Amino acid sequence: MSDDSHMRAAVEAARINLGLTSPNPVVGCVLVRDGKIVGKAATAAGGRPHAEDQALVQAGSLARGATAYVTLEPCGARSSGGVACADLLIAAGVVRVVVACEDPSPFASGRGSERLTAAGIVVETGLLSGWVLDSLDYWAWFRSQSLAMPQRTDRT
Ligand SMILES: [Zn+2]
Repeated sequence: MSDDSHMRAAVEAARINLGLTSPNPVVGCVLVRDGKIVGKAATAAGGRPHAEDQALVQAGSLARGATAYVTLEPCGARSSGGVACADLLIAAGVVRVVVACEDPSPFASGRGSERLTAAGIVVETGLLSGWVLDSLDYWAWFRSQSLAMPQRTDRT
C-alpha cells in the first residue's frame, strides 16, 4: 500500500462527515503500522473530537511506530484546554506524519507541523493536496474562515 492509497483512505473516512463538522473543517486521519491500517477516523459531527484523537484511540498501543496520514495539518494548540492533536501524535509514538494540506489559518499555519518536527517526527506536507482540497471542499471552508476570523478559536 502506497502513501497515495493511505491518503485516499483518509479522504474516504473524512467524506462520511463532510458538511457535518461546522465550525471545524472535516479532517480524515488514517494510522498505518507495518502496512496495515490500525486506526481510521473523521472529525466528529459538531467539530470534535478531532480525527487524529479518535484514530489514536482506535489504534491504542499500535500507534507506536505508525505513520499518520491526515488531510489537514494537525492542530498545534487548542483554546479549549484540550490537548492538541500534534501533542497527541507525539505522545502516542507516531514516527511519521503525512499531511495533504497545510492549515491556512494565519494563526494556525505551520504550528502543528513545527511541534511534530521539534519532537523528531518526520513531517511531509502536500501529498495529493489539490485533490484533497477539492474532495473535502476545503476551499469553501477557507473562505468561511476568513469571513469569520474571530471564530477561529473553535478550530484550535
Ligand atoms: Zn486537532
